[in-house]
Amino acid sequence: MNMDYLIIGAGFAGSVMAERLASRCDKKVHIIEKRPHIGGNCYDEVDSSGVLVHRYGPHLFHTENRVVYEYLSGFTQWHNYRHKVVAHVDGRNIAIPFSFTTLYQVFDDVKADVLKAKLIERYGEGNKVSVLELREAEDEELKALGEYVYEKIFVHYTAKQWGIPASEVNPAVLARVPVLTSYDTHYFQDTYQAVPQSGYTRLFETLLDHPNISIALGEDALETLKIIDKQLYYEGERFEGTVIFTGMLDALFDHCYGVLPYRSLDLRFEVCDQEYYQDNAVVNYPNEHEYTRITEFKHIHPVKSPQATILKEYPQNYINGKNIPYYPMPTEDSKEQYERYAALAQEIDNLVLLGRLAEYRYYDMDDIVARALDVFEELT
Ligand code: UDP
Repeated sequence: MNMDYLIIGAGFAGSVMAERLASRCDKKVHIIEKRPHIGGNCYDEVDSSGVLVHRYGPHLFHTENRVVYEYLSGFTQWHNYRHKVVAHVDGRNIAIPFSFTTLYQVFDDVKADVLKAKLIERYGEGNKVSVLELREAEDEELKALGEYVYEKIFVHYTAKQWGIPASEVNPAVLARVPVLTSYDTHYFQDTYQAVPQSGYTRLFETLLDHPNISIALGEDALETLKIIDKQLYYEGERFEGTVIFTGMLDALFDHCYGVLPYRSLDLRFEVCDQEYYQDNAVVNYPNEHEYTRITEFKHIHPVKSPQATILKEYPQNYINGKNIPYYPMPTEDSKEQYERYAALAQEIDNLVLLGRLAEYRYYDMDDIVARALDVFEELT
């Protein structure tokens, strides 16, 4: 067993760690990945219609973190892409996040003028306010606007997405899509916004292309990695190196404190015999259909093709072993349950937890790259 690090999972968390350890510290790294490909949920490929599709749902890179952007720029060229989303509400498409642009789309000019002035007075121009905060506004008209946005855009979408009432969803989740006190129609306001020019899979191939890195695909690490008396064993032998685990923590500990709740998606792709299916990359359907949104990938990665590929996302319960745990469900109870697992992990000196699943946090791509770079510094 000639390796310094064993990394479980080849998503951003595992791949960035592998790259840093191999190229910066000359460490020998072995990655074990359950799926038949690298890249985790960022995995993309060109489909039968010639369109580059994100197999696990739309991934739009955006960050304020220059270090992260520059780090990734070492492994990919970028296609500048600033994401826009519309929501189908009351029979037409309106700009999301809710902004002054949306205000004038849904109300007459006189009412929109009044609300705009009040929003600027209360929250300042060019700022962001969570819909939950807007619902608590003292001013009756702002409060009513908060209710309107909550009802038309959030409450039903959120119930669909998470399978629980919006009131029970962590407020931080809704705050990801704030109300904007500007005319900005972009989904994100970050300085750096782009997608890898040749796709995420290519980016990961470049990240992992190092003689010190070996990868086993289609292998379930939990069959070969065991914890006995707070020690790690790999293929029956005590493992003295460091294990970086990016999978589900409850699974690592045989679900001894029960299955942690995650949310899954049934992702249904369709190839349509038309050049474009919709005008936007993403159209949200807060109030109708069982799916939450339709993504048309040609808007993200432009290509000439007589066909369009779309993706409908049907949220569903996560069932252990049956589907993919896309999102942790950060409620008070689940956080407590997670902490019990984390305490077990902490007793193992050479075990590091990293990533959306292992840390049970709703990380964006840039967050997890930043976190991996930090953990690398801490470890070395
Ligand atoms: N959300 C909503 N309506 C929308 C868009 C978002 O209610 O039109 C809520 C929903 O609860 C969602 C959360 O805001 O889970 C975060 O949205 P985001 O687009 O960040 O979700 P992701 O792309 O990560 O699935």
